[in-house]
Amino acid sequence: TDPNTPVLETRNICKSFNALKASQDITLNLRAGEIHALIGPNGAGKSTLIAQIAGGLKPDSGSVHMDGRDVTALPTAKRARLGLGRTFQVSALAMEDTVLQNAVLGALGAQGRPFRLFQSALNNASLRDSAEQALERVGLQDHARTRTAELSHGQRRQLEVAVALTLNPKAFVMDEPMAGLGASGSKSLTGFLDSLREQAPILMVEHDMDAVFALADRISVLVYGQIIATGTVAEIRAHPEVRRAYLGE
Ligand code: ADP
Ligand code: MG
Repeated sequence: TDPNTPVLETRNICKSFNALKASQDITLNLRAGEIHALIGPNGAGKSTLIAQIAGGLKPDSGSVHMDGRDVTALPTAKRARLGLGRTFQVSALAMEDTVLQNAVLGALGAQGRPFRLFQSALNNASLRDSAEQALERVGLQDHARTRTAELSHGQRRQLEVAVALTLNPKAFVMDEPMAGLGASGSKSLTGFLDSLREQAPILMVEHDMDAVFALADRISVLVYGQIIATGTVAEIRAHPEVRRAYLGE
């Protein structure tokens, strides 16, 4: 592929819920090696946009591209297998299962195999290997047998990333990864995401502005379904409309 082709891209995406225009002509991209943060007030349409990129929601018009390929018609699972990793605003982990079981479940889903094969998957060496590698990557290897409900918030976030990593993703979309973390949790997750961008760039919805300013190569600001600015941290901090509309100045 042409190295200038964005890893992930939306072109002129529009999406309405009845009279509400949740996405209005949204064009943005994610480049190799970067963290691109998507910020904006509650109800701006951030999660709606992420859902259209991940495939859970179909745009009314416009398109989604991975490595230049139009994936607009492809379901979520297909996009995942093409290398789109994601974490959710609300956790999708099985709380009663162990950390390793959750990671194996992720590895199984990554291979596009039905979840009813879960029990045999736990005894499948290659799935276990890929699950264990992912746990090691996020530093949870010593918690493999811990019940997921017993993890701290920060550790659950790390496990969600591990589940996504079992796909060997080419790009990540994350909806509020810092949500619910205390200061030390968000600091350690910030360090981890910083190291992750080399493996796969991240499009990240985030309210925690300390994390955004620390991590983002570029920031896009979404207000009432529209991108009002895209730029570097310095450009966004200096943008008068952004200061008014979002930073409350
Ligand atoms: P954000 O993530 O930026 O807080 P959302 O994308 O969740 O915002 O929501 C954007 C707007 O679209 C909100 O006004 C929300 O109520 C509305 N909305 C989101 N999903 C639906 C849906 N499935 N049906 C109707 N309205 C929705
Ligand atoms: Mg949201």
